[in-house]
Amino acid sequence: MSSIIIIGGGIIGLLTAFELHRAGQKVTLIDRQAFGQESSWAGGGIISPLYPWRYPDAITRLARFSQQIYPDTLAPMQQRTGLDPEFEPNGMLILGDYAREQPQQWVTKHAINMRMVDAAQIHELAPELAERHQQGWWMPDIHQLRNPRLVALVKAYLQTTDITLLEHEAVTAINTLQLRVDSISTSKSTYRADQFVIAGGAWSSQLLQSRGADCGIKPIKGQMLLLQGRAGCVKRITLSEDRYIIPRKDGHVLIGSTTEDVGFNKDTSAQVREQLLDYAVRTIPALKSFTLQQHWSGLRPGSANGIPKIGQHPQLENLYINSGHYRNGLVLAPASARLLSEIMLHKALSLDQSDYAPCDGTHMI
Ligand SMILES: Cc1cc2nc3c(=O)[nH]c(=O)nc-3n(C[C@H](O)[C@H](O)[C@H](O)COP(=O)(O)OP(=O)(O)OC[C@H]3O[C@@H](n4cnc5c(N)ncnc54)[C@H](O)[C@@H]3O)c2cc1C
Repeated sequence: MSSIIIIGGGIIGLLTAFELHRAGQKVTLIDRQAFGQESSWAGGGIISPLYPWRYPDAITRLARFSQQIYPDTLAPMQQRTGLDPEFEPNGMLILGDYAREQPQQWVTKHAINMRMVDAAQIHELAPELAERHQQGWWMPDIHQLRNPRLVALVKAYLQTTDITLLEHEAVTAINTLQLRVDSISTSKSTYRADQFVIAGGAWSSQLLQSRGADCGIKPIKGQMLLLQGRAGCVKRITLSEDRYIIPRKDGHVLIGSTTEDVGFNKDTSAQVREQLLDYAVRTIPALKSFTLQQHWSGLRPGSANGIPKIGQHPQLENLYINSGHYRNGLVLAPASARLLSEIMLHKALSLDQSDYAPCDGTHMI
């Protein structure tokens, strides 16, 4: 049994802790605030990349694997805690006049359940939509999750195990001895372990900076609106104009999102709020009667082509990275955690790890 410290308790760190503990390791998870309060709280919870055919195959493979293992990952947690993250199969409609060739090739290559729909079929699937779209793509299998509930579920489950959970304790230094990490210093103490994992989201490069390779992960801000109205009024996850609408079961509706390269700045702006509201009402006129409840932003861990870094640090043999999931951290989390656990424990790998090799010199989106 190895002792392993994971730095960062967003969804990536939480599920990495789950996988390593399930494999019999002695795990400590540490975050500078309460778990899951950053990007993993702020996201929309769509369990699919947006416009999924635009991404490299490395993302499609990781996403497909995650989509397969999500139900079995959540089931034991739900059983033990009684919490429900609302993992719901709403299906996703992608609207707009996109060239057919690329999506069609992607569907065939990866055997994806996605089909083209015309105006009448769109109306049948989502009568709430303004009738202005002549064509779209329909992905019936796509699920969504409620981010804060997912984080609460995983945290509650981990609390029932012997994992050491440290919140409100910032990691201030990674201390090395020759080519190994010897310990980490925090705002409260110093901790030693056999192996260490960086799952610090948008802050991963800051954590790695003094260690030679920073993996080129940087914050990309996304702003989001939360509306409240009649439950059942909006039926599908809808994607168009590089924006999306996500209906929750209780009548909440999320409208997202921007992609802003503005550093560690989480301000929201009135201009973006008006743009998102305008988009929402043009897409689903009934949203005009909904009330705006909240407007927030989160910092995604941006990476080159959105491909996360999963694996061993190039210089420090007992340091591992699981970060850089950019717009897809919720969908990619179970597969990324499983793959990293397999790499660390020298098990047969579910996916080719070379696609996700950390810090190979490729930088930025
Ligand atoms: C608006 C928005 C919409 C999104 N929508 C979706 C979606 O629909 N589907 C999807 O799949 N993805 C979506 N995402 C992306 C997804 O949320 C992220 O990719 C994912 O949450 C990243 O998880 P993480 O654990 O790596 O990072 P985070 O959740 O940011 O966690 C990193 C953690 O590290 C901690 N930390 C940082 N520095 C230190 C330190 N020095 N010491 C201790 N702890 C530290 C932080 O406190 C934080 O808790 C969205 C993101 C945003 C912002």
